[in-house]
Amino acid sequence: FDASMHRGTLAHMQLEHDLRRAIAKTQDQAISGETEAPEFWLQYQPIVSLKTNRIMGFEALIRWNHPERGLISPADFIPLAEETGLIVPIGQWVLRQACYQLSVWHQLISSPCPLIVSVNLSSRQFVQPDLVNQISQILQETNLNPRYLKLEITESVVMENAEVATTMLQQLKSLGIQLAIDDFGTGYSSLSYLHRFPIDTLKIDRSFINRIDIDGENLEIVRTIVTLAWNLGMDIIAEGVETAKQLAQLKALKCEYAQGYFFARPLNCEAATALVLQGTIAVK
Ligand code: C2E
Ligand code: MG
Ligand code: MG
Ligand code: MG
Repeated sequence: FDASMHRGTLAHMQLEHDLRRAIAKTQDQAISGETEAPEFWLQYQPIVSLKTNRIMGFEALIRWNHPERGLISPADFIPLAEETGLIVPIGQWVLRQACYQLSVWHQLISSPCPLIVSVNLSSRQFVQPDLVNQISQILQETNLNPRYLKLEITESVVMENAEVATTMLQQLKSLGIQLAIDDFGTGYSSLSYLHRFPIDTLKIDRSFINRIDIDGENLEIVRTIVTLAWNLGMDIIAEGVETAKQLAQLKALKCEYAQGYFFARPLNCEAATALVLQGTIAVK
């Protein structure tokens, strides 16, 4: 236990303390209806149909503005939140906020195929015994039809204990919500399990899409995942599309949906609402 480890632990403890305070503040603000300088808020990144350029939905992504340190990336605080269990109250807040926002958007527009919202679910949330009840309650409170909520779960979460995961996924599915595997291709998926899970969507990890236009192997991997999803009756979303060339290749592979900076970055609520009203994404 040397000095640098000690500093690491202190920084850790400080961040944990700050997270707890930010959660308490967020919960107080939710009760009082006050919205001044929130530390947590959600951004929404559009998911686009490659056939029509229509927005089929948004992924909700949490943001944290730390009072002294400024923006802290979820990659830097979600792991700590998972370790400490703080992801449970944070995740509940994210779910409620995202469902609420979607139901506001649904009232704003009347479309024959309403938008969906995707919410990331961490492993710690996934193993909570009352998860199904919590989600069901949030759907009721926000008056959202379950079919328009999609939960994103990573491969490792479901593969670690595939038997238990199957039961949990079936319970979630029985609520009427949709399920996606996030960052697909980076974990250790067992194909023998994949077809047993009641999964609606595979999101192909950004690392494959990144190199699809420069490297033939990645192109073949993406082609294989698209075919696999097709054979299993699942939708495909390509994550992290950044260039016109990547988009062209995905279209050639008959990939249905995509998400990435090429279309739009994650947006604050007002900018996302403007896109909702517009309905489509103008592709450069
Ligand atoms: P993710 O679920 O795979 O989310 C996609 C990430 O890729 C987001 O990063 C998004 O901003 C980024 N991204 C989207 N398009 C592009 C692109 O074209 N290029 C590049 N380079 N990046 C792109 P973000 O928001 O920093 O989130 C990182 C991760 O943190 C998420 O990965 C997710 O695992 C986790 N996370 C974010 N919000 C939540 C949350 O509310 N709950 C939980 N449990 N995890 C969350
Ligand atoms: Mg995700
Ligand atoms: Mg992802
Ligand atoms: Mg991820």
